[in-house]
Amino acid sequence: MLENEVSANEVSALVDQGLLLPLMEEFYTIQGEGFHKGTAAYFIRIGGCDVGCHWCDVKESWNAETHPPTDIRQIVENAAKNSDTIVITGGEPLMWNMQPLTEALKTKNLNIHIETSGAYPLTGIWDWICLSPKKNKLPEGLIYEKAHELKVIVYNKHDLIFAEQEAAKTNKNCILYLHYIYSPNGACGIK
Ligand code: SF4
Repeated sequence: MLENEVSANEVSALVDQGLLLPLMEEFYTIQGEGFHKGTAAYFIRIGGCDVGCHWCDVKESWNAETHPPTDIRQIVENAAKNSDTIVITGGEPLMWNMQPLTEALKTKNLNIHIETSGAYPLTGIWDWICLSPKKNKLPEGLIYEKAHELKVIVYNKHDLIFAEQEAAKTNKNCILYLHYIYSPNGACGIK
């Protein structure tokens, strides 16, 4: 029993350091959104998110405890075998310390992209930052300066106002996208 408790504490410490990460899934695919749409990449989906978007299509990512703490060396080895472009997504990957994972990916000369709501401080080394801010947990200030791409999800009319507000916070080179959400019956949320 004591051994298990110590082990759990050790795992928790390694997760805090970013040496283990709750890996939900990893797969090679074609980027379907934004500036890099249509290009191949290896996606690494990290579990854990407390932003709570009601239209989220990966709610199974929210509870980090349901995703195994995975050694980042294993994650990097898998990624390097599959693509030279890696997309870190979630969940909300910035809930975790991304520095060790991105440093390790860089030793393999990989291009590293992140898809984030920006709700947590920016950690890690990134070649491309896709910032997708959410109203219920706004980004920390610094990431607006660093973002290469702003992607605002549009579910209703007010989201267009939110998009304008968020665009005004970005750096001058940031590329702006609206991403529409469609309801299950095929109707757009915009009326
Ligand atoms: S930030 Fe992303 S993962 Fe988190 S609830 Fe919103 S859409 Fe889902």
